[in-house]
Amino acid sequence: MFPRFTLRYARLPERFYIRFDPVPVKAPRLVAFNRPLAEELGFDLAAFDAEAAAVWFAGNVVPSGAEPLAQAYAGHQFGTFNPRLGDGRAVLLGEVTDRQGRLRDIQLKGAGMTPFSRGADGRAPLGPVLREYLVSEGMHALGIPTTRALAAVTTGEAVFRGLPEPGAVLTRVAASHLRVGTFQYFAARGDTEALRTLADLAIERHYPQLLGPELRRLGEGERYLALVEAVQARQAALVAKWMGVGFIHGVMNTDNTTISGETIDYGPCAFMEAYDPETLFSSIDEAGRYAYRNQPWIAQWNLARFAETLLPLIDENQEKAVEQATALIQAYPERYEAEWLAVMCAKLGLEQAQPGDAALAEALLEAMHRGRADFTLSFRRLCDAAESSRADAALVALFERVDAIEAWLARWRERLAQEPLAPEERARRMRRVNPAYIPRNHRVQEAISAAERDDFGPFEALREVLASPFDEQPGREDYARPAEPQERVFRTFC
Ligand code: AMP
Ligand code: MG
Ligand code: MG
Repeated sequence: MFPRFTLRYARLPERFYIRFDPVPVKAPRLVAFNRPLAEELGFDLAAFDAEAAAVWFAGNVVPSGAEPLAQAYAGHQFGTFNPRLGDGRAVLLGEVTDRQGRLRDIQLKGAGMTPFSRGADGRAPLGPVLREYLVSEGMHALGIPTTRALAAVTTGEAVFRGLPEPGAVLTRVAASHLRVGTFQYFAARGDTEALRTLADLAIERHYPQLLGPELRRLGEGERYLALVEAVQARQAALVAKWMGVGFIHGVMNTDNTTISGETIDYGPCAFMEAYDPETLFSSIDEAGRYAYRNQPWIAQWNLARFAETLLPLIDENQEKAVEQATALIQAYPERYEAEWLAVMCAKLGLEQAQPGDAALAEALLEAMHRGRADFTLSFRRLCDAAESSRADAALVALFERVDAIEAWLARWRERLAQEPLAPEERARRMRRVNPAYIPRNHRVQEAISAAERDDFGPFEALREVLASPFDEQPGREDYARPAEPQERVFRTFC
């Protein structure tokens, strides 16, 4: 059933990983499988058999041609450097070439204690596995770069997180699992040769344009500087997209910052409902380091840590290297602001950016904050308002205080008068960027709770809704509604 494995990572020098076979589980059962993704990856589904699949995706049988391994990496966790983290519960089976010719990693998460487990159990509870499945697939449907979920199996074993919970394994697919923390691992050891190998791998897999004829003429140092710039561009675009859908990652440690620019590691993440820039769901982030509004600047901090690792490759003269890298990192705010403005202009139905648009967007957020309005619904109803002012009332009804939003609507209409599109076309385009459905926390929680009682109906239903977030889905309006006070989820866990 599996496509042929490429062993690109497994062929790197031995200090990049530890060979490690997944630890078999008692009673594997396939509870979710992503057929469209499997097809994209070149799986042979004619031969698909749920029982055999469960055994593979649990790690009980290693598919032929795979050479499972745990990757080495380091990372700054909440600002504190740990020189050795590594895959403590994940095992990379290998890479496959998808139908578009791109290499994709296939990894089992929750596959048992590895030499990097640091005393933890190497396992994953069903709840977080299903959260990652739903939210990562939801993000993909929203058009946001992300790792994907190929399968989830339950293990028939209990995992203890205070209380016993059903255990599970998630099969995660990524453009690669290279992280800022992977580079930090070797930088901390002064292993410049490994850093070069890693940087070249990153360029080969994610930034092949840096191998183009124009850049080949450049010195090596300039190429690695260009790598920092390219990663920075992707991260700036990524975080701007998060901000545009109200996504809060929750653990933006450097080991959870990919080189590919994909969102990775759905732990204590969640989507904002009533707009508040301080929003945070993580049960382990008391200082609020990773709150919604800090995300763009944490990304910059993480990119600075990435740039530091490459200094020895950028210039023999370290002073010069620092100067160049610093200039690059200092350019981040401007780049991020441009990405954010592009996201917001699309959300507001503005095709041709004008001075003052950023302030207009900020003013709407301010009105939402004052009025405790639901972020997602506000923008969705704004699409209707773009078509006709008769729809204004439904938007305004989301706000507890209406003065600011009413004033804002007048200001927005004045601005729209300078736009070329007809209202219907503008509304149509706005509905392609302002989702009706996001993975609302109480819905995700409901799906998890039911699954823990062995009812996967709500999980399946939610998965289907989230696959088409921009379409109105008659009969499923309830999935678009924010949590009632008694349904509200304040904390999420990894
Ligand atoms: P995270 O905060 O999810 O990015 O995880 C940070 C580090 O802890 C990584 O090295 C993980 O592999 C490791 N880790 C997280 N949960 C477990 C677990 N249950 N068992 C072993 N290692 C874990
Ligand atoms: Mg992680
Ligand atoms: Mg995690």
